[in-house]
Amino acid sequence: MKIGFIGLGNMGAPMAANLAKAGHEVTGFDVAGIVAEGCASAASAPEAAAGRDAVITMLPNGEILTRVTAEIVPAMTPGAVFVDCSTVDVDSARAAHESASRAGLLSVDAPVSGGVGGAAAGSLTFMAGGSDESFAAAAPLFEIMGAKAVHCGAPGAGQAAKICNNMVLGISMIGVCEAFNLADKLGLDRQAMFDVVSTSSGQCWSINTYCPAPGVGPTSPADNGYKPGFAAELMLKDLRLSQQAADAVGAPTPMGGKAMELYDAFVGEDGKGLDFSAMLPRLAKMNR
Ligand code: NAD
Repeated sequence: MKIGFIGLGNMGAPMAANLAKAGHEVTGFDVAGIVAEGCASAASAPEAAAGRDAVITMLPNGEILTRVTAEIVPAMTPGAVFVDCSTVDVDSARAAHESASRAGLLSVDAPVSGGVGGAAAGSLTFMAGGSDESFAAAAPLFEIMGAKAVHCGAPGAGQAAKICNNMVLGISMIGVCEAFNLADKLGLDRQAMFDVVSTSSGQCWSINTYCPAPGVGPTSPADNGYKPGFAAELMLKDLRLSQQAADAVGAPTPMGGKAMELYDAFVGEDGKGLDFSAMLPRLAKMNR
């Protein structure tokens, strides 16, 4: 396939390189002038999009997605598929679908989970929203860039799934960090705390797979000075998106709102550049 790839940052560049490695003809564009391995470079987003069978975007936010959509949709060939893999608000995702549909394009919102490591390894999980026909057109590309793709439903459903998942993650990570800190203060050994909770009803990804306490459980960013991993500011971005969506539909999310407040304070004070599991050493420094 001829593929245009727009947004070659930490995630986009390795994803584009994997498509090229699999034998696709990939033309990339990034405003920062980044070139992805094995890919040709275009001078602009419309140039990267024109004449391609598929165009993938991997951009920082919804505002930028809206701008790039306005540039590339008129340049794309009717019948081609527009796949946005950025994490953005549900409204921007749906607006991109509408604009693609008016131009006779197929379209999928397909945010990912798996981080930079997953992007490089081609083991991302894609959460997709769009018509069956659109999902089918994008599925062979998801197979190369990822290990799993779930068709979540109509346009915007991929973004909805992503922000719900990450709201659970933000809340559960704070819960696990609070429990470790309380356990410390109660004189409970961290290994014992891990052994019990990871095999009892408190078990969850945040403790079993990504334990925020160094030296116990599987290797995680906690064992590497809390170097991300998944940065606290990216967790804050996703929690803000979930609160924005909850406001729009009137869904009560008291814990999601509190998690957003806690990550907002963390990133504003000393959490920038640290993994989101560094909430544990932060709590350890705080008073009740
Ligand atoms: P990044 O900032 O490294 O990359 C974004 C790229 O987009 C940058 O290189 C930037 O120059 C480029 N860009 C900005 N405006 C542009 C424009 N108008 N035209 C072309 N290129 C433009 O971010 P990232 O870590 O690669 O994340 C990309 C998206 O994936 C975000 O929405 C993020 O929330 C999501 N995400 C990231 C991770 C992660 O671990 N990094 C995990 C899951 C999802």
